Amino acid sequence: MVLLNPSTLRQDFPILSRQIHGKPLIYFDNAASSQKPRQVVEAMVAYYYQHHANVHRGAHTLSVEATELYEEARRKVARFINAPNPESLLFTRNTTEALNLVAQSWGRQNLKDGDEIIVSEAEHHANLIPWQLIAERTGAVIKAVRLTPEQRLDLEHCQSLLSSRTKVVAIAHMSNILGVVNPIRRFADLAHSVGAVMVVDGAQAVPHLPVDVQALGADFYAFSGHKMCGPTGAGALWARAELLRAMPPFLGGGEMIRKVYIDHSTYADIPMRFEAGTPNIAEVIGLGAAVDYLSGIGMQAIFEHDQALARYALERLEGLEGITLYGPRGDDRGGIIPFNLQGIHPHDVATALDSEGIAVRAGHHCAQPLMRALGVQSTARASFYFYNTEDEVERFVEALVKARDFFATFA
Ligand code: PMP
Repeated sequence: MVLLNPSTLRQDFPILSRQIHGKPLIYFDNAASSQKPRQVVEAMVAYYYQHHANVHRGAHTLSVEATELYEEARRKVARFINAPNPESLLFTRNTTEALNLVAQSWGRQNLKDGDEIIVSEAEHHANLIPWQLIAERTGAVIKAVRLTPEQRLDLEHCQSLLSSRTKVVAIAHMSNILGVVNPIRRFADLAHSVGAVMVVDGAQAVPHLPVDVQALGADFYAFSGHKMCGPTGAGALWARAELLRAMPPFLGGGEMIRKVYIDHSTYADIPMRFEAGTPNIAEVIGLGAAVDYLSGIGMQAIFEHDQALARYALERLEGLEGITLYGPRGDDRGGIIPFNLQGIHPHDVATALDSEGIAVRAGHHCAQPLMRALGVQSTARASFYFYNTEDEVERFVEALVKARDFFATFA
């Protein structure tokens, strides 16, 4: 049974009252991006209507107000993931930019020929390609942790890959396809046992479960605001302050300097060293409002709601003839259901569901190595959030049965 009362929460989301093709919208594409409550949009509107000016620069009142709102958002977001201090929380555009920052800035300084970077075969491309780019430049080598037959990451395999050459272990906290929450603390302990840093892709975890970067033993932790009720264009990288302080800048320009000469410069302390140029001020303030909104509901309650919907959906789908469901079963499974219907292309499944007002994603979900490991080209994926209901799951199952039977007539 679900814990939250989605019908009250749904009133905060005007888009959820929309009709699609004459049917009430069922939004099951939350792993790609969540919808936004009024509170977040209103925080951004209030900022633009009352407080907008550039931050960190002016002595005038509006600039001071804008700076205070921006820095207050930093404190909120840092508290939300239990960061020990706000200055080690950097704002980026999204997870992708945050992970590129780590790979380029930390990697350029710390990786050399023959060093090893351990990822997993279930990673999103955002936690693969930045490592490939820096590996090409430095001569570092990438190795991947494989899946167990239950489709969990194989910790023993990770252990067997470790050596004195291992410098980075980079793993997603929660898989955007298999829905599994990975045991980051155990990966971090393995990484630290050989002196490597633990980089965590938290894009799916921060929106859906309580995250404590200190308890996890993370050294770097990246996430995106737009999957957690915040606007697009605001994400974050948290890192241990001593690591950040030792790292060179990622981007250069205004705001990130101390002294500038024609041919060299000295750089500001963190966080400013990593926030060159005018930031996405309104979006960061919106992300702060999103954190307030989610905290008001409670992250544990959100996770349990997602899990309850996933359990219900899996129970209902398991008996469906022709369906293949991916991902492990258990308490470590969040609200993401990847599936295929036999003989029907996932894009056709998604199009058929769309005609019933149901939004799901189909494709490789930016995880082509995982698709290869699963032996498929692509899957369909339903992903839940706290505003989804059991009734919606029921309609989704009915629509899937209808789609399967419809396509069967052409088989
Ligand atoms: N990692 C994971 C696990 C994701 O699910 C996503 C978004 N699909 C990303 C990284 C990239 O997020 P963004 O596009 O916001 O940078």
